[in-house]
Amino acid sequence: MTDKALVWLRNDLRLHDNPALHHAASKFDEVTVLYVEETDPTLRPMGAASRWWLHHSLNALGRDLAAHGLGFVVLKDTAAAEMFATIRAEQADAVFWNRRYGPSAREIDAAIAGRAKVEGLECRDFPGSVLVEPFNIATGTGKPYSVFGPYRKSLAALPIAEPLPAPLKREAKQFTPVGADYVAPKWSEKLVRHWRIGETAARERLREFLDVDLATYPRGRDFPGLDATSHLAPHLRFGEISPRQIWHAAQAVGAHDHAASATVEKFLSELSWRDFNYHQLYYRPDIANKPMVPKFAGLQWRQADGDLKAWQQGRTGFPIVDAGMRELWARGFMQNRVRMLTASLLTKNLLIDWRIGERWFWDCLCCADEANNPGNWQWVAGSGLDASPFFRIFNPVTQGERFDGEGDYVRRWVPELAKLPDAFVHEPGAAPAEVLRAAGVVLGETYPWPICDLKATRVRALEAARGL
Ligand SMILES: Cc1cc2nc3c(=O)[nH]c(=O)nc-3n(C[C@H](O)[C@H](O)[C@H](O)COP(=O)(O)OP(=O)(O)OC[C@H]3O[C@@H](n4cnc5c(N)ncnc54)[C@H](O)[C@@H]3O)c2cc1C
Repeated sequence: MTDKALVWLRNDLRLHDNPALHHAASKFDEVTVLYVEETDPTLRPMGAASRWWLHHSLNALGRDLAAHGLGFVVLKDTAAAEMFATIRAEQADAVFWNRRYGPSAREIDAAIAGRAKVEGLECRDFPGSVLVEPFNIATGTGKPYSVFGPYRKSLAALPIAEPLPAPLKREAKQFTPVGADYVAPKWSEKLVRHWRIGETAARERLREFLDVDLATYPRGRDFPGLDATSHLAPHLRFGEISPRQIWHAAQAVGAHDHAASATVEKFLSELSWRDFNYHQLYYRPDIANKPMVPKFAGLQWRQADGDLKAWQQGRTGFPIVDAGMRELWARGFMQNRVRMLTASLLTKNLLIDWRIGERWFWDCLCCADEANNPGNWQWVAGSGLDASPFFRIFNPVTQGERFDGEGDYVRRWVPELAKLPDAFVHEPGAAPAEVLRAAGVVLGETYPWPICDLKATRVRALEAARGL
C-alpha cells in the first residue's frame, strides 16, 4: 500500500512556496489536494467579487496540479465534514495545511487537528501566508504591537524564510474543470477584461511590476491616474503568490541595483502593513465588527440610506470619489489613496458607520481580505490602533487636484466629466456656466451636485467625535 497525504489548501492556491504541499509531496507517494468551500457559520462568507475570483483561481490551480500529477478535489460543506469524508475516501494517512490566523478559522483548524490525531492520522501545519507569523513578533516587553513603525522595524530585522520550490512533477493527470454548477454573474463580464487569474499570472505580474513599475512606485503609488502599483493584492488574497516570494524577489532587485534600495524599502514597507493587519486580526479577533479603540463604540452614526446609495453608485458629486466607487464596481479594485478618500467621505462627511462601508468593499473587491479590509477601514475611521486621527478629514476636491491634477483618473471613470478643463474637473460646480455648457455638463442632470457641504459636514463630524 502506498502512503497518501491530503493537503488542505485555503488561502494558498499555488504550487511554489507552499510549505504544506512541498512537505507532503517530498514525503508521500501520493498527494491529493483538497479545497473546501466552507459553509461553517462562524466563518465570514466571501463577497461576490471574491467568489468570482476564487472560481477562476481554483480552475487555474487544478490545471497546474494535474500537470504536476497531483490529485485535486473541490467540495462544499463544513470543513470537518469534508475533511474526514475525503480522508476516508482517499484512504489518506496524513493531512497537511498552511496555518490561517482568523479566530474562527483557527478554532476550526484546531478541532480538526485534534480529531485527526485521535484517528491516528499524521497532521501537520506550516506557516505560508505571511512574512512572519503574528505570534513570532512581539514588543520588547513581549506584547503584541499596536504601532506600525516599531512593528515594521522589528519585522525588517527578522529572517524571512526563502521560498520553497514547487513539488517535482509526477506523471500528469487528467484535468477536470471545477465548479461545473458555478454560474458567473452577469456583472462579472466587466471584471474579466481587467485581470488574469492564477499562480502563473501572479508570478508574471510580480516580474513585470519589478521590471517596469517599481522604479516609480514611491511617488506613483499616490497618483491613481498612473495605475502604477503592483495589483498583486487579489493574488495575495488567494495565495496565488506568497508574501515571501514577493519579499525575496524585491530584495534581489535592491541587491543588484543599490540606487533602487529606497524604492524597494518603500514597497516592502507597504507589504508589511499586510502582516501588521494579520497581527491585529490574530490578537484582536473581531476587527470587522468592533472598533479596536473601544471608545469609538460610542460614536453616533447617521442612518442615511440615500447618501449611502449615492456613495455606492459613484454619484456623490465629488468626482474623485465617484471615479473610485465606479472603478471598484467595474474592476473589483481601487487605488489606495482613493480607497482612503472614499472611506473618509463616508465615515466622516456623511457620518455613516465604517462597518457599512467595509461590507460594501468586502462584496466588491477582488482582494477583499479579512485582515486588510477591516484594518484599513478602522485606520481611516480613526478607531484602529495606529490609525489616522478622527479629525483628519480628507477634502476630496483638493486631494483630487493634488493627486489627479490633469484629471486622467476622473476622466477614465466618470466620462460625463471628460470634456471639462483640468481646472474644474475636480469641482464642476465651480465652473462658469459657459464652460459647463461647452463640456456638455448639466449639474443635477448629467452629473450630480455635491451630496454634502464639505465644511459643514466636517464640523458635524468633529462635533460627533467630541467627548469620546
Ligand atoms: C478603506 C480601505 C480598504 C482596503 N481594503 C483592502 C483589502 O480588502 N485587501 C487588501 O489587500 N488591501 C486593502 N487595502 C489596502 C490597499 O489599498 C491595497 O492593498 C492596495 O491598494 C492594493 O493594490 P496593490 O496590490 O497594487 O498594492 P501595492 O501598493 O502594489 O502594494 C503591494 C501589496 O502590499 C500590501 N499593501 C499595500 N498597501 C497596504 C495597506 N495600506 N494595508 C495593507 N496592505 C497593504 C497589499 O498586500 C498589496 O497588494 C485597503 C485600503 C483602504 C484605505
